Amino acid sequence: MTNSRLPGLHNLPRAERLTRVAQAAGLDAAARAHLEAAAAHDGEIADHLSENVISVMAVPLGVATNLRVDGQDVLVPMATEESSVVAAVCNGARACRDAGGVVTEADPPRMIAQVQVTGLEDLSAARDAVLARRDEIAARCNACDPVLVRLGGGFRDVEARIVPPFLVLHLIVDVRDAMGANTVNTMAERIAPFVEEITGGRVGLRILSNLADRRLVRARAVWPAEVIGADVVDGILSAWAFAAADPYRAATHNKGIMNGIDAVGLATGNDTRALEAGAHAFAAQGGYGPLSSYEKTPQGDLLGRIELPMPVGIVGGATRAHPTAQAALKIMGATTADRLARVMAAVGLVQNFSALRALATEGIQRGHMGLHARNVAIAAGATGAQIDRIARAMVERGEIRENVARTLLDEMPRKGR
Ligand code: NAD
Repeated sequence: MTNSRLPGLHNLPRAERLTRVAQAAGLDAAARAHLEAAAAHDGEIADHLSENVISVMAVPLGVATNLRVDGQDVLVPMATEESSVVAAVCNGARACRDAGGVVTEADPPRMIAQVQVTGLEDLSAARDAVLARRDEIAARCNACDPVLVRLGGGFRDVEARIVPPFLVLHLIVDVRDAMGANTVNTMAERIAPFVEEITGGRVGLRILSNLADRRLVRARAVWPAEVIGADVVDGILSAWAFAAADPYRAATHNKGIMNGIDAVGLATGNDTRALEAGAHAFAAQGGYGPLSSYEKTPQGDLLGRIELPMPVGIVGGATRAHPTAQAALKIMGATTADRLARVMAAVGLVQNFSALRALATEGIQRGHMGLHARNVAIAAGATGAQIDRIARAMVERGEIRENVARTLLDEMPRKGR
């Protein structure tokens, strides 16, 4: 059995870490060589980004075409291992581009940091004491980050919520082009002694809230009935009504939206977990429901809308440290976090449209399975031209399984392999 005690692993150079882990886990030479080769390019960057790094997990980076956001065309880099996500954006974007593409609105980039105050007897008096010292709190927060203030960001407001038995302060901070977690966490930590002084309580947690509901992005698009078909308009309306009525369906509806948003987040070095947490917490406000909505216009076309938090940055975190993230931002031409956030909301909406169109018509499996079949063929050992041949054969048979792929591979004439 593997012993998980590997003392001092973090102090070793990466290659030696891999040796230790390979020994402990009994990795064969081929698996070890693969991990070594995978790290040849970006191993050093990976070492700086995380801990106990032994290699790099490469994820495909694709580019979605056809998207127009706020009158400007944009190529969208998407990092995802899931088949049909990039294709869905290309198709959904093409179907709405002649009707104007996607139009967006975005809140200013405001994040919330929470400060939990404990041990208070009179919560209302403590709240009043905090609000009376707003200007001093503002000055102390802004003193933490002169760079941000110079760029036009910084403290915007303090709110004091009574969440018995605690008083919870919300520092509202404009983080400009950053995702902002480190920025607001620093402010929350620095302000804590002052909060204790003015409330007489004790400060507990000091950390941002991932329910970033002061940083919402809204996007809308029209898909003309003459492009997608009047029956598809009705099918999508019915699919949306299902999600609006049933949280079991809404979870999957929103998962599809996040397929697109996370892929752009990952490609640009953003925190996909923060995006997920924000989106689902927002979707649960007032009972879990879909992040998008659809209606029929008076002309009979399909109007889709989406609204969700979009805490993303183009500075800070891995966005600047990772050359792939930098290249992805260049491909998009995103020079502000605001533009990135708007494009990501547009991707979420277009992705959702395509998923609903597939579900409401032929079902998801036909398009999905063609791409999935390729993965199964690769897992069975197919290479080069074999991959498409075996994938096609499995789709034709309606049997997409690794054992079927292996049989087909064995049956291939030697010279055809
Ligand atoms: P950061 O602190 O690295 O960068 C932000 C700082 O960059 C600002 O404070 C400012 O001083 C400076 N800056 C320079 N140019 C700027 C500009 N144009 N706009 C704004 N700031 C500019 O990064 P961050 O965005 O504060 O933190 C993001 C990281 O925090 C992510 O990697 C995330 O994973 C991590 N994180 C997340 C959580 C969470 O989501 N719960 C918690 C902790 C940390």
